[in-house]
Formats: sequence, structure tokens, C-alpha cells
Amino acid sequence: MKIKFLGTGGVSGVPEWNCDCEVCKSNDPKDKRLRPVLFVQIEEKNIIIDFGPDFRQQLLKNEIKKLDFAFLTHAHGDHMNGYMELARQKNLVFEAPRKVLDEFFRRIRSSKDWLLRRNPTMQMNYFKKKKIGQFEIDTVALKHQKDYEEEYMPCYGYIFRSSEFSFAYLSDYNEIIEIEKLKNLDLFISEGNGLDKSNTGHAGVNGSIEVYKKIKPKRMILTHINHKTGHAFLTEHVSKFGNIEIAYDGMEINTE
Ligand SMILES: [Zn+2]
Ligand SMILES: [Zn+2]
Ligand SMILES: [Zn+2]
Repeated sequence: MKIKFLGTGGVSGVPEWNCDCEVCKSNDPKDKRLRPVLFVQIEEKNIIIDFGPDFRQQLLKNEIKKLDFAFLTHAHGDHMNGYMELARQKNLVFEAPRKVLDEFFRRIRSSKDWLLRRNPTMQMNYFKKKKIGQFEIDTVALKHQKDYEEEYMPCYGYIFRSSEFSFAYLSDYNEIIEIEKLKNLDLFISEGNGLDKSNTGHAGVNGSIEVYKKIKPKRMILTHINHKTGHAFLTEHVSKFGNIEIAYDGMEINTE
């Protein structure tokens, strides 16, 4: 199995447009971050988690020629605004938990017909636990951000388990509802949106470290990094707490 980070930035990517801060001006290539997308390959099946506004250039740059599955974590623009590319893959299976898929279509209401007309072969399903190759795939319910109705918007992580390897991808959360699902992970990919827990719905780097101490994965990688923290600074910061790394665009994990 292969995991590749196609984008590791937050809502505005790094550098942010119209920002002159130190991180945005950094020459470190690891401080160039597109919006968050995770690519997973299991036995020739290509899976994408989220498809933000940089999705098209991420597919081109990484020479991804086909997609079998697209999963969505939640209906925020930085995770779903590249949805037009979903029209270009025949027989794509697009899934998200019921509330997430409903919210996605509520947000792109006028584009839904366009998408279905352009890609009549696309299957859209409410996500159900499934097996791809040797991996069981399930969701993890999260609390992320309250929307304008003062309710938490539906938001999930995805967890992949086989007898050989297990990992979870939780890109945006403030609190993990189904934390019991995260026991015995080989790899926990968690969010690092800002250093500290924020009132904008993010656990941030230090919030993820608290979770790391609780669930004790073998390895943790932080993603969804914004311009407030540079790669070099964060790498130094997290190394004090265990086997923790900071993701960068193009980072790969191969399990074979
Ligand atoms: Zn900046
Ligand atoms: Zn979000
Ligand atoms: Zn996000």
C-alpha cells in the first residue's frame, strides 16, 4: 500500500495569497503547501480523500491517471471545491457518510445536475464500511466547526486496517467522538492547523499531541498546516513528544 500527501496546507494553502509573513516568504520547499488531499493506493485501486481547490493540479503534478474511489471528510471549501474534476473519471465511486454527502449537495446545489450530466457513470453512495484489497475501511466521527445554525457540521475521518498495517486520516477536528476506533494504529495522520487548539474548530499541533499521548500510535504525521508555523520549526517542536513528523506536499509512505 502507498500513501501520498498531495496537499498538506490549510484553508488558504502556503504561501497565502497577499501575505508577507516569514513562513509565506520561506524558501524551504516544505513550506509550499497546497490544500489538503490524501492519495491512497491499495493493490492497483486508487483512492482519494478530499478534492479541494488545488485538486486538478495535484492530479496532473502527481501523474495520477485514474481514480477508483473518492471519499469526502466534510463539506468545507478547502476539501471539496475541486469537485469538477470528479466529472472526468468514468465509473468513479464517490462516497461520504450520509450527512456529509447531503451537505455537499446542499452546497453545490446548482452544480449537481452539471456533475451528473457530465459523469453519468459515477456512482454516489452513502459511505458504508467496506473492504478494498486487504483493508477494512471505516469512518471516525468528529466534532469540527459549528456552522451558521450553531450546530456542528458533519465531519469524519477515515480509518484503514489490515492484518499488516493500520492508519487513520483525521484532517480537521476539534474533538474526536469515536476515539475508541483509534486504538493500536501504526500511523495516525492528524491535523496541525495552528500550534494550539483554536476556537475555529481545530485541535492544532498541540491538540493532536494530546491525542497522540492518549491513543499511542506507533507514528504520527501532522497535516493541514497553515502559514503560522513553518516546517522546520514544527519538526523541532514535535520531536520532543515522540515519533511525530510534519507532512509536506509529495511525502510518501510505502508499506511493502
Ligand atoms: Zn503568511
Ligand atoms: Zn474544515
Ligand atoms: Zn480544512
